[in-house]
Amino acid sequence: RAKSSARSRFLYFSSAMKDTIHRRMLISKDLKPALLNKEFILHYQPQIDLTRGQTVGTEALIRWKRPTGEIVPPFHFISVAESSGIINDIGRWVFSEACRQALEWHAMGDPSWKPRMAINVSMRQVHNPNFLPFLSHVIRDYGIEPDLLEIEITESLVMQDAERVIDLLKKIKDLGMRIAIDDFGTGFSSLNYLLRLPIDRLKIDRSFILNLETDRRSKVLTEVVIQLAQQLELGVIAEGVENQQQIELVRSMGCNEVQGFFYSKPLPPDDLITWVRNSHSDINNS
Ligand code: C2E
Ligand code: MG
Ligand code: MG
Ligand code: MG
Repeated sequence: RAKSSARSRFLYFSSAMKDTIHRRMLISKDLKPALLNKEFILHYQPQIDLTRGQTVGTEALIRWKRPTGEIVPPFHFISVAESSGIINDIGRWVFSEACRQALEWHAMGDPSWKPRMAINVSMRQVHNPNFLPFLSHVIRDYGIEPDLLEIEITESLVMQDAERVIDLLKKIKDLGMRIAIDDFGTGFSSLNYLLRLPIDRLKIDRSFILNLETDRRSKVLTEVVIQLAQQLELGVIAEGVENQQQIELVRSMGCNEVQGFFYSKPLPPDDLITWVRNSHSDINNS
């Protein structure tokens, strides 16, 4: 009896796995044509400086707009693109498009508004030998100030092959770009490597912010990360803030930059501009 239930469990699991593999294969096959057909779009989420009450940056987040109109979130295709290698092509498109958009905003009139552009980059891109030359070409061709560009790299991936990654990130820093460690707190960084990584700031992972008001341990960890950043003279930003309490808490702990649904979801570029225009007085008054 036990045997048959174990077997049916196995069959069930295995068919679920087959579904996943099948779905990933279908997506994988579609990614290249999607890129050629320009089906990828970028949405932008504001990053708010609480002391100045200003949107000082935006994070570019990719979506796949299928011809049916369906919008596919990155969760469904980024890891597939990473395993097939097409992330290198998609990533180049993301980078160029985000730079183009940043320059458009910088040229838009108000000379005091020059938001930074944060761009997610996967480790597979960082390791690609064409990546650095590509970055320097884009910076030169667009004539964009490199310190207005911030590359976001996920913490857990940085620590694999750390020596080589440190070397590659130093070369990115030499181009004048900023580097942020994304999802910080989830990847069990060696603090030793943290000292040696040429990074500008830590992005506190959303999972810590999620229960900040209610969970004592989330609060302790958030505070420790903020203090770590301060002691190491790194910047820090809290991602995933969804309510005023969370904002007040991170602010009281010394973190002055936030990003999250409380302010805005990632928006298409035109909506982002409208949001910035309509919201700044609200932020200042809050
Ligand atoms: P991430 O870089 O950590 O981005 C933050 C994610 O959290 C985004 O999801 C954003 O919409 C979501 N988020 C922000 N604030 C809140 C909030 O207050 N509440 C909740 N519930 N969620 C919030 P998204 O856009 O689905 O992106 C997911 C992940 O996909 C990103 O995580 C990033 O790792 C990856 N990704 C997105 N765009 C790109 C890209 O162009 N290239 C690469 N390589 N990865 C990307
Ligand atoms: Mg990110
Ligand atoms: Mg990430
Ligand atoms: Mg993150």
